[in-house]
Amino acid sequence: MPFKKFDKILVINSGSSSLKFMLFSMSTETMMAKGLVERIGTPNANLVYQRDGEPKMTQGISAENHGKALAMACKMLADPELGVIKSLKEVNAIGHRVVHGAEEFTDSVAITEDVKTGIKTCSDLAPLHNPANLDGIVACETVFPNVPNVAVFDTAFHQSMPKHAYMYAIPQKYYDEYGIRKYGFHGTSHKFVAQAAADYLKRPLEDLNLITCHLGNGSSSAAIQGGKVLDTTMGLTPLPGVIMGTRCGDIDPAIIFFLARKGMTIDEIDNVLNKQSGLMGVNGIGSGDMRDTVNAAAQGKAAAENALNMFGHRAALYIGGYHTLLGGADAIIFTGGIGENSFPGRKAILTRLEAIGCKIDEAKNKSVFGTLGVVSTEASKIPAIVIPTNEELMIARETFRLLAATLKK
Ligand code: ADP
Repeated sequence: MPFKKFDKILVINSGSSSLKFMLFSMSTETMMAKGLVERIGTPNANLVYQRDGEPKMTQGISAENHGKALAMACKMLADPELGVIKSLKEVNAIGHRVVHGAEEFTDSVAITEDVKTGIKTCSDLAPLHNPANLDGIVACETVFPNVPNVAVFDTAFHQSMPKHAYMYAIPQKYYDEYGIRKYGFHGTSHKFVAQAAADYLKRPLEDLNLITCHLGNGSSSAAIQGGKVLDTTMGLTPLPGVIMGTRCGDIDPAIIFFLARKGMTIDEIDNVLNKQSGLMGVNGIGSGDMRDTVNAAAQGKAAAENALNMFGHRAALYIGGYHTLLGGADAIIFTGGIGENSFPGRKAILTRLEAIGCKIDEAKNKSVFGTLGVVSTEASKIPAIVIPTNEELMIARETFRLLAATLKK
């Protein structure tokens, strides 16, 4: 019954100048078509569209705002020749990625006027993302009147963190006044791979201690105890934690005052730490891409080799710490562009985990590329498993779960 009512779920990830969409059929969890409108609000907006298993197509469109962008995307989805549905009436529900839900949203939620106000309130903590996510929601309300919308927050899964993990040791008044605390991000991905790990291990998630490493351009790790987050590496913002493509991860916070006193403005420092640091800052080739870093290291570039070691060192440091906090881990999960595809990236971490009973299997590690697979030796006490993430499917699942529950009431 719920599948009949909520079979076709559209997933929307709306950015400031882009709108990504994916249409799922939930009875089989298949992605029917996906696409992206980019450069919204400029004269050279583009629609990229792809049906499942078919080549991508790109066309120039006019999309002065998110509403127009969505209308063009929907026209394609229902196109008699190129589309995958006969009419937009087939879309039963829409799931939206929303970056920041602060403490207000601890779970996915059906969107109402109050929820939209709440998302707006959280914009203070994600000024670039939340307003763009709201634009996508408003566009859907216009194009799909009477279709339920659900918000799925990047931060929600991490809301289960205990207070001693999420508080910063700065005066309490900053938490009280501004909500300064650790929130964590990539929650949808951590939740997806945690559930997938439980399925793979054939054990209930409630019984497992997992360390999930989402390693992409942006990276974060999480300690997950019985399906609840115990700690995660990102914080108030996505800047701290492990070393990322262009973000520095953890640094001594006093570096910021030091640079400010040298004459840099806050915006300049912000730009350096977010956009010019991480692998890009240290690998000597000016690229934040792991593939470029690995290639440069293979050519004997010492700075790139050091960047790879820094990446592995920092990630292993968190895995070791989380292993302790969890009282032992049942599995270490790798996901994200690097976690799924870069065997040298994984190797840089795995070779540092022997002390906790996780030993790399070099051959297996080399052979796993974009698929589920174990990359540790059989004798390892803790297996390291690569699990491809699927944040869009998770958003569709969350949307379905929430709406199906309303039918039971
Ligand atoms: P984002 O955080 O933007 O979603 P991704 O998850 O796509 O980023 O990850 C991007 C990173 O993954 C880059 O450092 C890239 O080098 C790495 N990566 C992506 N695909 C591959 C691949 N096929 N082989 C090796 N590394 C890859």
